[in-house]
Amino acid sequence: MNRVVVVGASLAGVSAAESLRERGFDGDIVLVGAEDRLPYTRPPLSKAALADGVDESALRLREPAWFEEQGVTLRLGEAATALDTRDRVLRLGAGTSIGYDGLVIATGSISRRMPMTLSMPAVHTLRTHDDACRLREALVRGGHLVVVGAGFIGLETAATARGMGLEVTVVDVMPAPMHRFGEHVGAWFRDLHERNGVRIVCSTGVDSLRAHGDRAHVILDTGETLIADTVLVGVGGIPATAWLTGSAVRCADGVRCEPDLSTGVPGVVAAGDAARWHNALFAETMRVEHWTNAVEQGVHAAGTLLGEPRPFESVPYFWTDQFEAKLRCVGRISPEDTVAVLRRDASSLVAAYGRDGIVRGAVCINAPRQLATLRSAIADRTPFRDIAGHAPSATSPAAPRR
Ligand SMILES: Cc1cc2nc3c(=O)[nH]c(=O)nc-3n(C[C@H](O)[C@H](O)[C@H](O)COP(=O)(O)OP(=O)(O)OC[C@H]3O[C@@H](n4cnc5c(N)ncnc54)[C@H](O)[C@@H]3O)c2cc1C
Repeated sequence: MNRVVVVGASLAGVSAAESLRERGFDGDIVLVGAEDRLPYTRPPLSKAALADGVDESALRLREPAWFEEQGVTLRLGEAATALDTRDRVLRLGAGTSIGYDGLVIATGSISRRMPMTLSMPAVHTLRTHDDACRLREALVRGGHLVVVGAGFIGLETAATARGMGLEVTVVDVMPAPMHRFGEHVGAWFRDLHERNGVRIVCSTGVDSLRAHGDRAHVILDTGETLIADTVLVGVGGIPATAWLTGSAVRCADGVRCEPDLSTGVPGVVAAGDAARWHNALFAETMRVEHWTNAVEQGVHAAGTLLGEPRPFESVPYFWTDQFEAKLRCVGRISPEDTVAVLRRDASSLVAAYGRDGIVRGAVCINAPRQLATLRSAIADRTPFRDIAGHAPSATSPAAPRR
């Protein structure tokens, strides 16, 4: 193999490039990225960088010298538009193309949008450096922020905006914030946000959004109209795989990978937010949109590409920071799980999640010490009763759907 092209110059892509070198690959590595800036990390975009200003150099994943030292050629500001897997050629927007022997798909995800809002200046999504700059520019003007979607990006942004002194309302169609973690975690986060002055409106959908000068009117399905200076739509991400349409790489809510992150197409692997694979540890096909997964899968996909295929079996992990709460989550959680609350007070909460009698997930809020034990329990497929046996409260399922 003489040349590996990595498509997507961000976390999974940089991790794959680094791992290729660490494993001794000494051919060409070309890192192709649609954004015209050095690879950067995204978590601060809804937290410190939004509050304090987006400092490009502080967000960088690697310094410019690193790419030179590692012999990684950067092709930034160039989006991949098509893949010819027969002749092993990647086509770029500028009408140019690059041949490859190995290819890593690491194009991540993009924000899901509400089609009715596309041309409204007051309405934002938050995925990129540029999104964060635009959103910050709006937030420093103050006023009322309406967040549509009480998932982790919506709630982090709500917390940051409250810290900047804005009036904030969060609207979600589900019965509680962070709904998939169940009613206990949902209630805990509702209380946290309300104590800090955020208005939480749940079990309520957005009927329509209308531009009103520089502002937007958010009309709820209860008939209430929220007048917003700024709206953040935080309703999840979709995999950035449109450029693979017409290629031999199969996509269905992400690139469909084998358990080792190969794609079934010779010389092509995938990693990060864009990859969907079967995780045997959970007997489940999944796509994970979190930081640690992107790093680990970049490393793993590099190994597979270099002829060391092993199934990628991981316990997913993510964190979110909102006001004084640091939530750490391990494993796999869905609204159908049985929940055992192992500890709960005003400043912390620990919950374990089980299905088919096995512990599959855990949430620790301001409780870092419990995390490692629960992570091991998940990896070891520990019976749920062994964890939940002494729980002060156990409920099933996690949360009723509306
Ligand atoms: C605001 C925000 C806050 C977050 N906070 C947390 C957190 O607190 N904890 C946590 O665990 N996770 C967090 N995440 C998630 C985490 O950042 C992502 O899981 C991670 O960035 C995924 O890395 P990736 O490399 O797979 O994809 P991405 O980071 O999405 O990178 C993909 C790259 O590919 C490029 N690309 C797309 N299409 C093309 C194309 N056709 N050609 C060339 N390049 C292309 C994109 O421009 C992008 O640079 C957060 C994400 C966001 C947006």
